[in-house]
Amino acid sequence: GRRVVVVGAGMAGVQTAVALRDQGFTGPVLLLGAEPHQPYDRPPLSKAYLLGKAEGAAFEVDFDSLDVQLRLGVEVTGLRPGDHEVDTEAGPVPYDVLVIATGAVPLTLPGTEGVPGVHLLRTLDDAERLRPVLAGRHDVVVVGAGWIGAEFATAAREAGCAVTVVEAADRPLAGALPAEAAEPMAAWYEEGGVRLLTGARVERVEPGRVVLADGRELPAGAVVVGIGARPATGWLRDSGVALGPDGTVVADDHLRTSVPDVYAVGDCASFPSARYGSRLHVHHWDNALQGPRTVAAAVVGAESRPYDPVPYFWSEQFGRFVQYAGDHTSADTAVRRGDPSGPAWAFVWLRDGAPVAVLAVGRPRDLAQGRRLIEAATPVDPALVADPEVPLKAA
Ligand code: FAD
Repeated sequence: GRRVVVVGAGMAGVQTAVALRDQGFTGPVLLLGAEPHQPYDRPPLSKAYLLGKAEGAAFEVDFDSLDVQLRLGVEVTGLRPGDHEVDTEAGPVPYDVLVIATGAVPLTLPGTEGVPGVHLLRTLDDAERLRPVLAGRHDVVVVGAGWIGAEFATAAREAGCAVTVVEAADRPLAGALPAEAAEPMAAWYEEGGVRLLTGARVERVEPGRVVLADGRELPAGAVVVGIGARPATGWLRDSGVALGPDGTVVADDHLRTSVPDVYAVGDCASFPSARYGSRLHVHHWDNALQGPRTVAAAVVGAESRPYDPVPYFWSEQFGRFVQYAGDHTSADTAVRRGDPSGPAWAFVWLRDGAPVAVLAVGRPRDLAQGRRLIEAATPVDPALVADPEVPLKAA
């Protein structure tokens, strides 16, 4: 049969192999991964694994019984579609069908690359290096109050570290959530014993301390940089595969790329959403689970609907369970549900009277009900949405 080569052995790559077998593909499947470790899951890296509460994060997938060949510790350096080959340090690898699932790499803080004591948090190796920082209860400075920064700060506090979070914007999650939803989260830091410095910029990192642009100095046994990530697509530069201005592989609504027989899925790809009327770049776990099913269906030639999910993700921070489903813009109407200074509240964003996104803090039922309304594009009564005592339902 045709040979499928998957580049990247993270969630999206592994799930592609699993989905191919689920959907009856019997040809050879080769999974190529740059990291030397048995494929593993990332969410535990900023949670239980970091705290030493979980020993490993490897996927419970039996590659032998799936008859999926794994080649790990191999970086793919290029793609030559004309030859149907990818290049590795160990030589070329031929494919009939190629799936790009190379995920993302974290952004570094300029000037701090390679400085001892400065960490990123993306890989198992990163988490491995951070475990002793927590165990040693070092003073830590976290750069960036995004999802990763908040989760790392939570774990570091739990381990007994003194934690300062430095954020350039005026609030946490400024890139992800509007002010009305993110501002209440600033109080979580203080309540969790974390010093949050907003509107603050790191000037430089010196041994044992961080110097801010305003001259303030923060003691730092370790620095953790969580300022975002970019798609790991540099190796495709001269391949002819179309990349977007944000570096994502530009996929279509069946996750096909601009090059025949080549697909892209997970954190590295963007796709057009008819539901939202825009191109989406979703870099969360659920997308790396759902997308591969669309890819597998296309590869086996099954009829399948366009890939148009209601994106979903969760975060665990400062003792809260935060969930978000959908996609909203600043043009949508935000409806508050409950008191954001309390333990459980939500926001629902409406477009033309129907919900397009929901943020739920400690209200998993709102998330589940909201997600269904978003999927069905069902109009709702804003007055009822604003009442946390009333379940989310159609008008
Ligand atoms: P990746 O997981 O990045 O996997 C890509 C793989 O490809 C990597 O192993 C990489 O080494 C390999 N690769 C890259 N380039 C090459 C190359 N040229 N050749 C060969 N191999 C290559 N999402 C949530 O929804 N909730 C959470 O709570 C959550 N927590 C997270 C916590 C952490 C610390 C991190 C880092 C992410 C978290 N996420 C969470 C996001 C989620 O883990 C990602 O969306 C998911 O891992 C994406 O999977 P992927 O396979 O597309 O990419």
